[in-house]
Amino acid sequence: MVVVSLFAVTGGGPRPGNVFAAGQARAAAWSGKPITLEVDAREAPRKRLQARLLLPAAPGPLTLVYPQWIPGEHGPTGPIADLAGLRFAAAGKPVPWRRDPVDMFAFHLEVPAGADALEATFDYLSPPDSEGFTSGASATAQLTVVSWNQVLLYPKGAASDALTYAASLRLPAGWKYGTALPVGRETAERVEFAPVSLTTLVDSPVLAGAHFHTFPLTTAAPPHQVHAAADSEAALEAPPPVVAGWKSLVAETGVLFGARHYRSYSFLLTLSDHTAHFGLEHHESSDDRVRERSLVDEDARRVAAGLLPHEMTHSWNGKYRRPTGLAPGNFDAPMRGELLWVYEGLTTYLGQVLAARSGLLTADEYRESLALTAAGMDHQRGRTWRPLLDTTVAAQILYGARGDGGAWRRGVDFYPEGELLWLEADALIRRETAGAKSLDDFCRLFYGGTSGPPQMVPYTFDDVVAALQKVAPYDWRGFWRSRVEETTTGAPLGGVAGGGWKLVYTDTVPQMLRSQEAVQKTVDVRFSIGIALAENGRINDVIPGSPADRAGVAPGMKLVAVNGRRMSPEVLRQAIRDTKARGPLELLTENGEFFATHRLEYEGGERYPRLERDPTRADLLSEIIRPRASAP
Ligand SMILES: [Zn+2]
Repeated sequence: MVVVSLFAVTGGGPRPGNVFAAGQARAAAWSGKPITLEVDAREAPRKRLQARLLLPAAPGPLTLVYPQWIPGEHGPTGPIADLAGLRFAAAGKPVPWRRDPVDMFAFHLEVPAGADALEATFDYLSPPDSEGFTSGASATAQLTVVSWNQVLLYPKGAASDALTYAASLRLPAGWKYGTALPVGRETAERVEFAPVSLTTLVDSPVLAGAHFHTFPLTTAAPPHQVHAAADSEAALEAPPPVVAGWKSLVAETGVLFGARHYRSYSFLLTLSDHTAHFGLEHHESSDDRVRERSLVDEDARRVAAGLLPHEMTHSWNGKYRRPTGLAPGNFDAPMRGELLWVYEGLTTYLGQVLAARSGLLTADEYRESLALTAAGMDHQRGRTWRPLLDTTVAAQILYGARGDGGAWRRGVDFYPEGELLWLEADALIRRETAGAKSLDDFCRLFYGGTSGPPQMVPYTFDDVVAALQKVAPYDWRGFWRSRVEETTTGAPLGGVAGGGWKLVYTDTVPQMLRSQEAVQKTVDVRFSIGIALAENGRINDVIPGSPADRAGVAPGMKLVAVNGRRMSPEVLRQAIRDTKARGPLELLTENGEFFATHRLEYEGGERYPRLERDPTRADLLSEIIRPRASAP
């Protein structure tokens, strides 16, 4: 997902006239006792969370930081611009502060003599309607997600495992909540959570809302549930097949990994058209935000079906096992993304496979998604200059990249291309072992182990190669090196072929694409004339070298008319269909205040990707998505 950053830019406020020359946090200034954190979310509908921290402290210089590098977001996405009203006090007196001139997330201050604690208060300005990840829109009139990293500070340089926070939360009257965070006690006023490490706190957001329902998914331990909050009561009426699919998902993950590394697991499902839409993984929960009618509208359900399987897979691949570069130990040390093709790529593959195994996607829907992914990657012309590895290294800037120019720039392709590569690895293991082993065996070996509470075991590229080697001896180092580090002209389609299918193009719009277009209000004719556009004609991207590109059409323009008739999705599709009989197509575009006509030399009609069975090879793909678990 690409974050559209629409943060409110806050005013600077007056600088304090009397600041101390404060250096880095001295060990002596930090006493290591639990930090008290009180969050008041009663004004969440007004997009404001109030935070009060009580930090045990000793006199002397102290540097506090606001979390910058957010786990799972793989970048410096902490919403520092939305911190407002910051004040410090000790022994009843204000304590002046000064922001570090280089590190925008760090605040220097001097704890006065005689003080044994420091109070910090500030507001988090929760943004209105905006996309992005957790720093995007998170509160509506009816619900909110509290991400603890947005409402706390901690001593710079401290390991997040070494700090203990005793957090409490006040919610609007009548709101219910769900979280993986253990509750200490609940009063009419507030929820007091059991003291936990800063790592666990940031890993355990709270979903709360006026319209709230909990769906239990298991009867045996450990407990699994979907906590859902929506902007309406009606949006919570999940049809029985959806709930059955969630239950099957839990069962299928048990079969796939063979062990669970959590005490309980909660999907925190937000159903709203006014929050950002994404999923963020946690060890014992996931923050899953989809459109309001995603449980009850068929198109929206289909488009969102893979989200919960993806995020749950991360409990193993991403949380339990994590690349060393993505486990810096706190939230102010930078992350390195070079293994995101494992962290996100394998999760994309397994998430889709698990969605199919659990029935959340039909076999047709699974194959349609895979065909769209394969065709999409095959049309990413940026692959000729940017190897997949660079999309992982540059992930922290690519998540924020615009959609225009995406086919030439490449975006966070390690998700979709990772899916193709891990399918290829799966097919290879099956081939090399004559069907005796599969990627499932790698999953049990690498992510299984012994069930128990959360722990994190870091890994390197060598560890991945060694584990694959154990499952099926092969030149895995060479396999990944060539696919990850080298530029190529076409997508890696070895997995589709090895799975017994072929990528073909037909003139029928796949149901999955119809649903995506209906939900996202887009039209995707990239595979015929080379354009991805919004329903209203705004051109999101043009494939370099495509008929539209050769005719001078570019992203950012607006498609106004097709063959002299006002543009609509139907008019455009019909005109493309007609090229088979009538030849070239004429597009009228608007570029700022200027209009231009473009003659597209194209006679190929409509073209959409689809997978077709290759009868000369075994149908491994159907075997891969076959359910494993017995009915729940
Ligand atoms: Zn992910």
